[in-house]
Amino acid sequence: MQINETQLSLVNSRIETLIRANNFYGKRLQDAGVSQVHSAKEFEALPFSEKADLREAYPLGLMAVPEDEIVRIHSSSGTTGTPVIIPYTSKDVDDWAIMFARCYEMAGITSHDRIQITPGYGLWTTGIGFQAGAEKLGAMTIPMGPGNTEKQLTFLQDMKATVLCATSSYALLIAEEVEKRGLQDKIRLKKGVIGSERWGEKMRQRIKSILGIELYDIYGLTEIYGPGIGVNCQYNTGIHYWDDYLYIEIIDPVTGRLVPDGQPGEVVITTLVKEGAPLIRYRTHDLSRIIPGDCPCGSPYPRLDAIMGRTDDMMKIKGVNVFPAQIEEILRSFPELSSEYQIRISHLDGKDTMRIYVETTGSVDFSTIASRIAEKVKSRIGFTPLVKVVEVGVLPRSEKKTQRVIDERYN
Ligand code: ZN
Repeated sequence: MQINETQLSLVNSRIETLIRANNFYGKRLQDAGVSQVHSAKEFEALPFSEKADLREAYPLGLMAVPEDEIVRIHSSSGTTGTPVIIPYTSKDVDDWAIMFARCYEMAGITSHDRIQITPGYGLWTTGIGFQAGAEKLGAMTIPMGPGNTEKQLTFLQDMKATVLCATSSYALLIAEEVEKRGLQDKIRLKKGVIGSERWGEKMRQRIKSILGIELYDIYGLTEIYGPGIGVNCQYNTGIHYWDDYLYIEIIDPVTGRLVPDGQPGEVVITTLVKEGAPLIRYRTHDLSRIIPGDCPCGSPYPRLDAIMGRTDDMMKIKGVNVFPAQIEEILRSFPELSSEYQIRISHLDGKDTMRIYVETTGSVDFSTIASRIAEKVKSRIGFTPLVKVVEVGVLPRSEKKTQRVIDERYN
């Protein structure tokens, strides 16, 4: 998906702002002697920006406009070291609410809905993002914030909320409480809008079936406004994102070069109208792909696939970039297999080899299923792995996160 003329002219106005502000990216542009970009090719030659740049700018080094235009800051929860502070102008706050309201609309939510919001409020962007979007839409908001499940359940019944906003794990917890207490008939939920966390199809099905609701996934990150920059539609064919506010590229995380639409890689985002802290070619380290073609819903907004993981998970085998999520997706399409698997990569006789260990019951023919899996990996990813089939229960299990990928090449 190439950057278009309108997007290019917006980028140029961001470039002017950044150079004037002389923040880290403004300096980088000046060092590169860039004051404008005139084509997609020139845009693609612009330097990337990274989370480390944002940390270095702590506390307010990202600010790209005079301080009296800044109305709010948010901070990302950085698990290690210095947090990232993102300053917002009044227009940024409003733009974010407009984008979030679009997410609700995409999910078929209207001003007649009652929206119970359980993500946290504060420096964190989640709660307030859900809140501002719902108010922009004109719906009635119920700003609960996280925790206090008793009160959440009481309000779900008494306020007759029709939409639940939550993380996937909290939505599951609420669903299980509703089931345990037999409250299904007392609540009026129709839709769930789920923010953050990667989550599996099993968890999704469980929440859907207990609560009898449709689920929508919100995408976003604090560095780029917060949640609300995209959402799936009722056809669930990927995340529609707002390309009048953002330009999204997918790159090969190793070479930094663009990959063709449809191919997986790292999501790189450019903010087109952000004032307080514009970002150009920001590397998110999230893995996804652009979904080519049109969505059956008819929306003109392009689509990003569900986030498949982080670039740190990537493996390079026989010159092909592979993500564990791709293998997992293929294995999931074989109902004969258990959910456990292990991937071992080694270097033998001058060649990279991937061995995939899977589990199945004794009732299927091990060699047939092994070759079917190998063929599917070959056709989807481009190389043939060795597939080893074992009995259910043989692969290691652990209470904590099971190590599924073992790279023996660097031992
Ligand atoms: Zn759609």
